[in-house]
Amino acid sequence: MIDLHTHTNNSDGTDTPHALINKALSEGITVLGVTDHDTTSGWQDAIAARRAHLSLVLGAEISCLTDDGVAVHMLGLLFDGENSLMQTMLEESRDSRLPRMRRMTEMLTADGIDISLEEVFAAMPEGATLGRPHLADALVAKGHVASRDEAFTDLLHNDSKYYVTHIAPTPEDAIKVIREAGGVAVIAHPFATRRGQTLSAMSFPSLIAAGLNGVEVDHRDHSSVERDQLRGLARDFGLVVTGASDYHGTGKLNSIGENHTDPAEWARLESMANARRVVTE
Ligand code: AMP
Ligand code: ZN
Ligand code: FE
Ligand code: FE
Repeated sequence: MIDLHTHTNNSDGTDTPHALINKALSEGITVLGVTDHDTTSGWQDAIAARRAHLSLVLGAEISCLTDDGVAVHMLGLLFDGENSLMQTMLEESRDSRLPRMRRMTEMLTADGIDISLEEVFAAMPEGATLGRPHLADALVAKGHVASRDEAFTDLLHNDSKYYVTHIAPTPEDAIKVIREAGGVAVIAHPFATRRGQTLSAMSFPSLIAAGLNGVEVDHRDHSSVERDQLRGLARDFGLVVTGASDYHGTGKLNSIGENHTDPAEWARLESMANARRVVTE
């Protein structure tokens, strides 16, 4: 089974890369994508923890903002991790997450939901990409809400008054950097309307022009209608169709392998990278 989109504690997942790999093997995964938000910091640990019968697809899920201000996630897989354009882009995004988080804690506190930046740091594994899930964990620890999920539903969702954006490339720019670094670009959960405002079919031509390779169709945040629409777009534009769990350990309900990618589609996607970068034992 092929699962190309998962997270570790290098961003907002709760498993170490080592634990993720063991979990994947025990759940029958044969090809595993490790795609932390805006970082490649988990790659070394993942490579060190590699096992027989599990191919590792190293990547990152890049937070993007369209010119219209819509938050979009772009999966970059199989790119050269040493590429400086890529690392600069990821670093800028991570750096701006700090002032963004400070602003969010200030706005919550001003409304009587008392929370400090220090409390958010205490909820974050060292070196991880700082994100709203860590703020959610801090709100849980303080008793403001019962769970990460409740924190997002009540306070932290994309349309919330407490939501602040951070510096992020446009999806087109992210695709160009991924391709420049030799990798393949897959737009993650593009029609997940429950997350707030999303892309529309009209945005696809410019993503294609930038070099988009694939579209994540089978994802728990897509309804069956949304999946059918995306399959139609994939057919029209010749995009690779993927499916993935977006597993976050205990940080989200998603279970590893709950959605997966067809082997023929994966073979097609992998052939589009400029080098063979799948890590095997
Ligand atoms: P950020 O990158 O800081 O804007 O945070 C976005 C992250 O929040 C995404 O990776 C999502 O996986 C996570 N997220 C969104 N909604 C929820 C939820 N209901 N429960 C847990 N995590 C969530
Ligand atoms: Zn996440
Ligand atoms: Fe995402
Ligand atoms: Fe994700």
